[in-house]
Amino acid sequence: MSDADELQILNPATEEVVATVLAASEQDVAAAVARAVRAQTGWAALAPADRARLLRRFADTVDAHTEELARLEVREAGHTLGNARWEAGNARDLLHYAAGGAERLLGKQIPVPGGWDVTFQEPLGVVGVIAPWNFPMPIAAWGSFPALAAGNAVVLKPAETTPLTALRLAALALEAGLPEHLFQVLPGHGHIAGRALVDHPDVAKIVFTGSTRTGREVMERCARLVKPVTLELGGKSPNVVFADADLKTALDPFSFLDNAGQDCCARTRILVQETVLDEARAFLADALAAVVVGDPADEKTQMGPLISAAQRDRVRSYVPDGAPALRGGAPDGPGFWFPPTVLTGERHDSPAAHEEIFGPVAVLLPFTDEQDAVRLANDTPYGLSGSVWTRDLGRALRVSQAVRAGNLSVNSHSSVRYWTPFGGYRQSGVGRELGPDALTAFTETKNVFISTEGPAQ
Ligand code: NAD
Repeated sequence: MSDADELQILNPATEEVVATVLAASEQDVAAAVARAVRAQTGWAALAPADRARLLRRFADTVDAHTEELARLEVREAGHTLGNARWEAGNARDLLHYAAGGAERLLGKQIPVPGGWDVTFQEPLGVVGVIAPWNFPMPIAAWGSFPALAAGNAVVLKPAETTPLTALRLAALALEAGLPEHLFQVLPGHGHIAGRALVDHPDVAKIVFTGSTRTGREVMERCARLVKPVTLELGGKSPNVVFADADLKTALDPFSFLDNAGQDCCARTRILVQETVLDEARAFLADALAAVVVGDPADEKTQMGPLISAAQRDRVRSYVPDGAPALRGGAPDGPGFWFPPTVLTGERHDSPAAHEEIFGPVAVLLPFTDEQDAVRLANDTPYGLSGSVWTRDLGRALRVSQAVRAGNLSVNSHSSVRYWTPFGGYRQSGVGRELGPDALTAFTETKNVFISTEGPAQ
């Protein structure tokens, strides 16, 4: 594909063209930012209750279109219908949650001598959001909706391969009555439109979700303008399974197969206490064979395709022919398919055990005791997510305190809720999204001291 000017959106399950959209140029980005600056001024001047009401109306409009949005996500991203419905509902629910925050952006009153001291949370202005292809709709929502609720305008650049649901959300915002140009979506190439957004002096903050490699560049470019960033980057999360755990739940293959493994929180390092390693291997062999891989629009399908041929090639490069592995099935023919796979012959320091693969591939690795488990869990440059499975409460608490990651689950594989904070340690990111403080990340704190002394006589 050339840099000029069109993005062909493929259905990853069929390789058919779903749509063609224009790719934004640097000039398009500059014009969008100028429009956003104007829109933001009016939006910030609205009473918080009016902003909240408009965002709730936006939520209701999304609610009326969840099935349409879900089916669009199935076509452009290959997500299973069940997942895509959850994603559309997540965008709606986050809008309701963020709308509630518009009226609760509280400041503080701080005791000081000689006067009163109060703080205000003021909007930043225009926020640039750059989203990846793996969860196009929720990630667009997580970056954008709390920013809007806090009084900002948003310019969102979706990934090259998956702009359609974000474009539809922007159209629904207008339909719901949000001011024109307040929430703009500009499809485009990362190195053109993405960079232009990052470099624009009137974009007050960048929220970037994507690979650690690109995130590093975004942070460097933002540093030149001393522009704040939130970075949600890669992961290689551990699933720590002690011998006393309920193995069937702990080894649920969807802990790494959800969204065909294209999930930054996927538990792709399955660390199992060595005394139950054989049992774990036998269970996983059966579980992988039972996974229903196929047409994502079919209600019974559990796992769809990868996003692109390039992604499939990348995933394949970690699974050489003849590598010791447990494998499920995958369709032949058109579509970017890869079978559910657990590599069983890796060392802790091999590339497959260390690098983010971003496909339906995990590694099975043994550990000896609690200390060994924590050491291996932390032996990664990432720190996004992870699970700990044990019936021993004290051990669960010790291990969850010792593992360096932003989102841990004990006896569960859950990781993302819109009302709890989400983000990574170390090279998994900077800052947090979602949760009760989500709006604050899109504000500046202003401190005002008011003297109670009279003017000098
Ligand atoms: P990517 O870094 O290639 O691209 C992400 C976005 O950045 C895309 O919109 C792309 O067009 C844009 N981009 C590319 N180059 C750019 C540049 N120089 N300047 C500005 N923007 C640029 O990532 P991807 O392959 O689309 O997404 C997969 C990655 O995202 C994985 O590493 C995954 O772990 C990560 N991810 C992280 C989270 C999280 O919350 N931590 C969530 C989802 C995905």
